[in-house]
Amino acid sequence: MQVAAQKVVTIEYTLKNDAGEVLDTSDGDEPLAYIHGMGNIVPGLEKALDGKAAGDTIDVTVPPEDGYGARDEELVMNLPVRKLPDKNPKPGAHYRVQTPEGPRIIAVKSVKGDYAIVDANHPLAGVTLHFHVKVVGVRDATEEERQHGHVHGAGGHHH
Ligand code: ZN
Repeated sequence: MQVAAQKVVTIEYTLKNDAGEVLDTSDGDEPLAYIHGMGNIVPGLEKALDGKAAGDTIDVTVPPEDGYGARDEELVMNLPVRKLPDKNPKPGAHYRVQTPEGPRIIAVKSVKGDYAIVDANHPLAGVTLHFHVKVVGVRDATEEERQHGHVHGAGGHHH
């Protein structure tokens, strides 16, 4: 069976940046299961997996525009600390905040007096992604999985 829309694809993966540093890996964890064609993984990787089969291994370089997008320097903001969920923010802390565009994760870069510099870019925005992926399995999605838009059981949601 080949990877195509509405298939549940199980993969082992390692993600590195340009410097060869490991950013994320399924190594030592259970493989990741996702439904193909639903935007559950970055577009560049989804495209590269199209038509692959169990046992196939791919190495793919995904530019930011097919990954987590370009960095937007307008998302680096100087905010009053009183607007943050934590009144005593520390550099490196992350918070989930509501914005007009929906929930976002913001990272605190620095704090000076009553103001904090925060970055609302995705941590991997602007990063070229180097994936090494092994396809472990491909199966049809169940009706329920299709309705939920995510995989149930091994490598997916347990609920
Ligand atoms: Zn579900």
